[in-house]
Amino acid sequence: MIIRVMTLFPQMFDATLGSSILQRGRDKGLLDIACINIRDYSESRHKKVDDYPYGGGAGMVMTPQPIFDCHAAIKDELKCETKPRTIYLSPKGQTFNQQLATELANEKELIFICGHYEGVDQRVVDELVTDEISIGDYVLTGGEIPAMVIIDAVSRLIPGVLSQEESYQEESFYSGLLEYPHYTRPAEYKGLKVPDVLLSGNHKNIDGWRRKKSLKITMERRPDLMETVELSKTDIKLIAEIKNEI
Ligand code: SAM
Repeated sequence: MIIRVMTLFPQMFDATLGSSILQRGRDKGLLDIACINIRDYSESRHKKVDDYPYGGGAGMVMTPQPIFDCHAAIKDELKCETKPRTIYLSPKGQTFNQQLATELANEKELIFICGHYEGVDQRVVDELVTDEISIGDYVLTGGEIPAMVIIDAVSRLIPGVLSQEESYQEESFYSGLLEYPHYTRPAEYKGLKVPDVLLSGNHKNIDGWRRKKSLKITMERRPDLMETVELSKTDIKLIAEIKNEI
């Protein structure tokens, strides 16, 4: 997947995109990610990228010219024949979730526009943007951290980025449920024991225990998810057991 990030602060991405699984995905040639400084495209003498809002009010607005030109340069570089999927990070956007991450992971290329100050001139959104995405109901200083969140969540879904052992299929949300708890060595620590079933070597029992824990934690913490998840006959039996145990 090709990812281009339009930002005023490219250096913010160095640690995130250059470490761990994302760097490995880049090393394997599965992720081609570059951050482009919008300021480099400013035609103003002092490389200005913001201005006062028409109509007055607090804060500054990112001007359209550097963003349009930066976006056009990326389209040229990627030889886009159609409008590329262009995401503007915005608290006003659709809330990001695992389903949207899965959908975005199927794209060949993604362009991210990171806002700052009060955000970008609306003409940028109207002309260039295909998706406005929020990472939650709160306001951050800029779109850089939201872009990193989305790039991380999307990249790990691209086949080959995660190793077999790191597979995401059982993780929270992917199956519609929250994930079961994990334990590792030692089997006893400060008198706290790992559940016997996990030491039993009986994989059928382990799978059953994990599924029940998944259902229980989802029922307790995110009952909204239970409304859409597909339940098997065994799940229904496990749910009855959970309810009896309360
Ligand atoms: N004036 C904007 C509003 O009230 O909706 C907030 C602007 S915010 C200070 C600056 C930039 O941070 C936004 O343009 C956006 O790119 C980014 N941003 C802030 N909160 C965000 C969120 N929850 N999700 C995605 N992007 C966010």
